[in-house]
Amino acid sequence: RTLDGMQTSVTPTHCPYCALQCGMNLTPEQDGGVAVVERPDFPVNRGALCGKGRTAPAVLSSSIRLTTPLVRNAGVLEPATWEEALGRIADALSRTRTEHGPDACGVFGGGGLTNEKAYTLGKFARVVLGTSQIDYNGRFCMSSAAAGGIKAFGLDRGLPFPLEDIPKTGCVILVGSNLAETMPPALRYLTELKANGGKLIVIDPRRTRTAEQADLHLAPRPGTDLALALGLLHLVVAEGRTDEAYIQERTSGWEEARAAAMAHWPELVERITGVSVPELRETVRLFCEPESAMVLTARGPEQQSKGTDTVGAWINLCLATGRAGRPLSGYGCLTGQGNGQGGREHGQKADQLPGYRKLDDPAARRHVAEVWGVDPDSLPGPGRSAYELLDALGTDIRALLLMASNPVVSAPRAAHIEERIKSLDFLAVADVVLSETAALADVVLPVTQWAEETGTMTNLEGRVLLRKQAITPPEGVRSDLHVMHELAARLGVEKGFPTDPEEIFEELRRASAGGPADYSGITYRRLIEENGVFWPCPAPDPAESVEGSEDCEDSALDVLPDDPAGEAEPMAPAAAAPDARPGGATAVAASGNHPGTPRLFLDRFATPDGRARFVAVTHRPLAEEPDAEYPVLLTTGRVVSQYQSGAQTRRVDELNAAAPGPFVELHPRLAERLGAKEGDPLAVVSRRGRATAPARITTSIRPDTVFMPFHWPGEGRANTLTNPALDPTSRMPEFKACAVRVELAG
Ligand code: SF4
Repeated sequence: RTLDGMQTSVTPTHCPYCALQCGMNLTPEQDGGVAVVERPDFPVNRGALCGKGRTAPAVLSSSIRLTTPLVRNAGVLEPATWEEALGRIADALSRTRTEHGPDACGVFGGGGLTNEKAYTLGKFARVVLGTSQIDYNGRFCMSSAAAGGIKAFGLDRGLPFPLEDIPKTGCVILVGSNLAETMPPALRYLTELKANGGKLIVIDPRRTRTAEQADLHLAPRPGTDLALALGLLHLVVAEGRTDEAYIQERTSGWEEARAAAMAHWPELVERITGVSVPELRETVRLFCEPESAMVLTARGPEQQSKGTDTVGAWINLCLATGRAGRPLSGYGCLTGQGNGQGGREHGQKADQLPGYRKLDDPAARRHVAEVWGVDPDSLPGPGRSAYELLDALGTDIRALLLMASNPVVSAPRAAHIEERIKSLDFLAVADVVLSETAALADVVLPVTQWAEETGTMTNLEGRVLLRKQAITPPEGVRSDLHVMHELAARLGVEKGFPTDPEEIFEELRRASAGGPADYSGITYRRLIEENGVFWPCPAPDPAESVEGSEDCEDSALDVLPDDPAGEAEPMAPAAAAPDARPGGATAVAASGNHPGTPRLFLDRFATPDGRARFVAVTHRPLAEEPDAEYPVLLTTGRVVSQYQSGAQTRRVDELNAAAPGPFVELHPRLAERLGAKEGDPLAVVSRRGRATAPARITTSIRPDTVFMPFHWPGEGRANTLTNPALDPTSRMPEFKACAVRVELAG
């Protein structure tokens, strides 16, 4: 039923944007487009959508969307046939490989790609091109949390518990997340938490709309979250609030971590962070008094050159107080991009094979090579991380295939990266619009969008979802899967690159079987019937049920759209087997299928000995501290009406009207020193360049800090300024803090 009560057909699906992956129904309109209709049955958002999701169909029908391949002739992009465009890409990649070796071909993916596309892209790079040089923009998103989670728990799944646990816990410390702007429907979990009597502590240098909801808002100096966590742990120990029995039974490495924390006494932490000792004590009280509590981090503490250690420090706090792996408690990361979680599990990362397997693990190589029908020794080793890959363009890497990413706007030190991209011998971009990066390409391929194709996504809870095709794509556009299929064939690999997403998912199931992110028990049919399934979800008997499913003649998509009540004959359940995985998912659904694992680590962690590992970490300064020449800190972030590099949302009139351009948020004291008034053009200058945008004066930011959103290109491009200093483990750039000078422009 549409909002005006008309009976019509609807396709249940999910938003194309962030990692909440809100459920929505799409209903056809008379002009051939689709309208968004509420979908209250999906538990994550219960029908609520933000403006981005509500207006998402506008990009489907946008007049500026690409519907014809473009090729560059004499410096100008001109329309071409698919045949010509694909031929040029295949020729360029083949020539590059012959002249410079396979590693001269680079591949850059995105956290918005479906699981099937991310999987195929990783396979394409390693099997067809034979290159190690593949990474994706998710490296810029939650890689530090992933690295921190793997170090401590042996496994990275953004949230190891479902969102529905948040309102039931006693206290949430939200570190560096502005949920109210990044994923507004999720704010209700915090509202319900407070209504249930739980406490909310928000840690953010800005008093954001999220921080305004908090019982306690701490506004540390940017880049000091690590010291803050250590100071809290110091107080936990000093006040005798540790859970000694839990530490003994479920952890290792406590003494070293404890000693490191005790070196960060509260007065020192107050000097480093600007958070007062009474505020630190109150935080410890609110966090430790309830029976259950959580720490949730987002990009604030993670996008730092010490992001992995910072995440480790917050996990230490959870471990010392007996929170992790306990009901309604623990540490979680709020992943950002739509498929930021699935995108990091299936092989488009520089160091990784599908199923979250490590590329340098011989057993993992053998397993995946067998699924792919190749020699394990033919698979290349780990390659460069995202920034390092982009920085090598035009030198070691001569040709690049890029999908679902816009690094000209989103990469740190963006002007430099733009120059590196321009210095390539050859660039091919697959996108839906002529993004700032696509505009530099030699060949641009117009590809299908979310509502025009089927695929799976994995949301921030580790819930695998099916995003179903609702409409026919316009004439002239093709799927990314078609692109890889055609390029593989032109490069001499005729088999192994199908275009049917369900066929690819079946292969992904086999490739992931037995790995940390095990999808082998998940089918399209289950995703439809169960509204998503949490991984790990092993097939009860991987050899039998996964292989068996290949023979299933009817696609779930063929059967189920006309059979929403599930009246079609169910697939035969495979025999159940108990599962001793982290999460203690020993239950098996009545159907015989593994039920999936909404809650991890309840019995054991995913480490060899089942214990969580403390990490001994200490505070260290930013890679670039303010000085006389650059005396102010810049931090960057998002606004509610734009998404990431804005490639899609800047094309939506309603969103543009709400957020038409960049701005520089600064405190009145800094504005007074500069002689700046509201709206005055300001120049923000760092060692990497200069950006200009109007002043937005507010007391909600620290006087030593300015904020810029990063969604826009051109003169207001915030990432012109940001620092690519990398975390030594996650290779995350230091987006969240760098030294700048602010002056009146002109
Ligand atoms: Fe889409 Fe995220 Fe907004 Fe939900 S919160 S509607 S998933 S952009």
